[in-house]
Amino acid sequence: MEYFNNIIETIGNTPLVRLNKVNDTSALILAKVETFNPGHSIKDRMALKMIEDAERDGKLMPGGTIIEGTSGNTGMGLALAAIQKGYKCIFVLADKQSKEKMDVLRAVGAEIRVCPTDVDPEDPRSYYSVSKRLSTEIPNSWYVNQYDNPSNTIAHYESTGPEIWRQTSGKITHLVVGVGTGGTISGTAKYLKEQNPQIKIWGIDTYGSVFKKYHETGVFDENEIYSYITEGIGEDILPKNVDFSIIDRFEKVTDKDGAIMARRLSREEGIMVGYSAGSAVAGINQLKCHLNENDIVVVIFHDHGTRYVGKIFNDEWMKDQNFI
Ligand code: PMP
Repeated sequence: MEYFNNIIETIGNTPLVRLNKVNDTSALILAKVETFNPGHSIKDRMALKMIEDAERDGKLMPGGTIIEGTSGNTGMGLALAAIQKGYKCIFVLADKQSKEKMDVLRAVGAEIRVCPTDVDPEDPRSYYSVSKRLSTEIPNSWYVNQYDNPSNTIAHYESTGPEIWRQTSGKITHLVVGVGTGGTISGTAKYLKEQNPQIKIWGIDTYGSVFKKYHETGVFDENEIYSYITEGIGEDILPKNVDFSIIDRFEKVTDKDGAIMARRLSREEGIMVGYSAGSAVAGINQLKCHLNENDIVVVIFHDHGTRYVGKIFNDEWMKDQNFI
């Protein structure tokens, strides 16, 4: 018989799929389709790793409560692992997150707290502040803090990086990743650059986020910060998990271009994935003058499109944003 002992054993070993219709470049573009994970996103990998490291370090005790500020995907990964391991989850989300994402987390047993999006990270109402406060108030609780938790990056160094190296037989020339906490790009890039330092690492950023300017100038410019519609990538803080030294360039993609490309991926490739996957492919096409027919580009598709049915896959919503 061939079976897994529980759902979390199915995490990882996701396929690489060639993009055919949406590729405007001369390179081969291969998508690492992370929707094949049981929680339908790449975040299952780091969620499990963060929990297991916290157990090992004595930060998470039997029957404990896991607290995290999460845009949904990390929450799903944490919830699946928590079910197997007997923990309770409380997740704090910004109100710009889609309602579907919140309902899905409730479906796997988590308690949800919603916070305003348009407040400073230091504001007591921000989801950073609320997560921290809850972890001091609730006994036997552990604040995951995916932004600064090193296990986030290590998960991708141990699993995502080696998988891509093996699946491309070491032929990858470019890795393209939407950047939020930075765990995916930093861990995957560290492994790949150790194998071949020539591999180029491109981070995808949003307008309204501080990453690109900070990477190019070393200046944290608050004037770059404004609220934007793209979900999952870009930040108004500098998470410890973003290793700026390993990233060769950042490319910003507009809310509109990311949304339109996510819809094209569904309709033209049959790959129904989320907003940041659209942004990543739009970013590659923007950079096509830096690619040639010998290049092999791997792009990470972080999460599933079903989480955005009320938004980018809804024509009325797209019209309201003036995107179509
Ligand atoms: N895309 C989506 C949909 C995400 O939820 C996230 C996580 N915030 C990212 C991309 C970015 O991944 P990371 O946090 O590892 O930088």
